[in-house]
Amino acid sequence: MPISDALRRDLADIEVLEDPRMVRLKSRDFFWFSPVLKRALDDKRADLVVVPRDKAELMRVAASCARHRVPITVRGGGTGNYGQAVPLSGGVVLDMAKLDRMIWQKPGAGRFQAGARMLEIDRLLAPLAHELRFYPSTRQAATIGGFVAGGAAGAGSCTWGQISDPGAVLGVEVVTVEETPRLIELRGRDVLKVMHAYGVNGIITEVEVPLAPLHPWCERIAVFPSLAAAAKFAHVFTECDGIAKKLVTVFDPQIVPYLRRLMPYAQAGEAMAIVMVSEPQAEAFELLAADHGGRVTFRRSAEEAQQAAYGGGDMPPIYEFTWNHTTLHAIRVEPSITYLQLRFPPVVNLELVDWVAKRFENEVLLHLEFQRRFGKVTCSSLPLVRYTTDARLDAVMAELDAKGVAVSNPHTYVLDNAGWKRVDAPQAEFKRLADPHGLMNPGKLVDWRAEPLRATA
Ligand SMILES: Cc1cc2nc3c(=O)[nH]c(=O)nc-3n(C[C@H](O)[C@H](O)[C@H](O)COP(=O)(O)OP(=O)(O)OC[C@H]3O[C@@H](n4cnc5c(N)ncnc54)[C@H](O)[C@@H]3O)c2cc1C
Repeated sequence: MPISDALRRDLADIEVLEDPRMVRLKSRDFFWFSPVLKRALDDKRADLVVVPRDKAELMRVAASCARHRVPITVRGGGTGNYGQAVPLSGGVVLDMAKLDRMIWQKPGAGRFQAGARMLEIDRLLAPLAHELRFYPSTRQAATIGGFVAGGAAGAGSCTWGQISDPGAVLGVEVVTVEETPRLIELRGRDVLKVMHAYGVNGIITEVEVPLAPLHPWCERIAVFPSLAAAAKFAHVFTECDGIAKKLVTVFDPQIVPYLRRLMPYAQAGEAMAIVMVSEPQAEAFELLAADHGGRVTFRRSAEEAQQAAYGGGDMPPIYEFTWNHTTLHAIRVEPSITYLQLRFPPVVNLELVDWVAKRFENEVLLHLEFQRRFGKVTCSSLPLVRYTTDARLDAVMAELDAKGVAVSNPHTYVLDNAGWKRVDAPQAEFKRLADPHGLMNPGKLVDWRAEPLRATA
């Protein structure tokens, strides 16, 4: 019996998508930013997509997949970059879109269903004078569950660090994939068991996070005579604890022409800094930029910026030029471009930025995302790379690594590799508990030994 028939019988009255175009669409993410992953994943897809309405339906899907030994790949917004949400062995894609409610909010914290989109969460929180501490530049489409299971940082990280930092996630609820699924609440450090685990060890159904007080974030662009000058300014600005800020990004002058909408705000050869700053403190930002030889070329009020985020006007919110959105803009202009993921160690970050810019001039183009972590300011980068061959990409990563710039290879879909993708023992251990049949996102956790798939019960 074809696998989908058995499931369909079990899942009667739960929404199932089988239209081949829809199944293909929901089997993909943004892996195509990488020429390596594009080759590896382009033809991979699920057999069908299931869209549960609530937790009870979701648990029926989990039970049915366990009973029929069908692979199950959880999907949030599908905005991941490494094929995390691409099913390698067919089976079911579990679309979390309808589990999108706020469960509760209190001063300083909130709990949300995992399929809630981060922009929508902030929309709900705004009247309560709270907001998420940080969000990826894919805020509009990314879900909070997908951010925990596959994301890292974003707008807000200049103040609040990363999703894996202590206290960044207070608790998660996970559903196991077993014949009789269980609900498990992970709190404190136990959250790390499922964090950045690509949904290989449990379906996250709820996420509890600390919240920040809401600020009116206005947007500014300042230009500087060089990357070094812009980077120095951005570093000092991020260190200014007294100025509330949401985003501090710097672009090498070579990147600006790829950001078509922003080109009018810089002259050829100028480096650009983009910031989101609390509106009453915009003046303090402008004074500091001037101190560093900067010239402010773009100003948008907090109200206009908020309207842009919610879809008003034709200029997108400014964070949609930063983090990995920069790659998206560049690929639209020059399809052969790809990217890397780098973390510069604190204290020597500006020296190393300078070294990378000179050593890989015209090949690795830096944009810097400033962050405050563990009391120190540093920057990470998703630099654009003018791709030539896989071997060259590997050589560049090896050289950066040897120099002390931490590289998380974005050209692999498996966990267990270097950097952010290193998997700690508790994740594999937790998989034995939450996914004893090894059905969740198979192929992503290398060395995982599961029972044979699809042995029908
Ligand atoms: C243009 C662009 C810009 C980006 N910018 C950033 C950025 O600023 N910062 C950043 O960190 N990332 C960024 N990303 C990557 C991505 O958008 C984020 O990581 C985002 O948080 C992923 O959320 P999602 O809901 O789309 O997850 P998905 O892509 O749907 O899923 C990601 C992984 O998590 C798993 N998963 C999803 N939901 C669940 C769940 N409920 N339970 C268990 N597993 C689950 C999936 O199986 C998959 O393995 C960017 C990507 C693009 C394409």
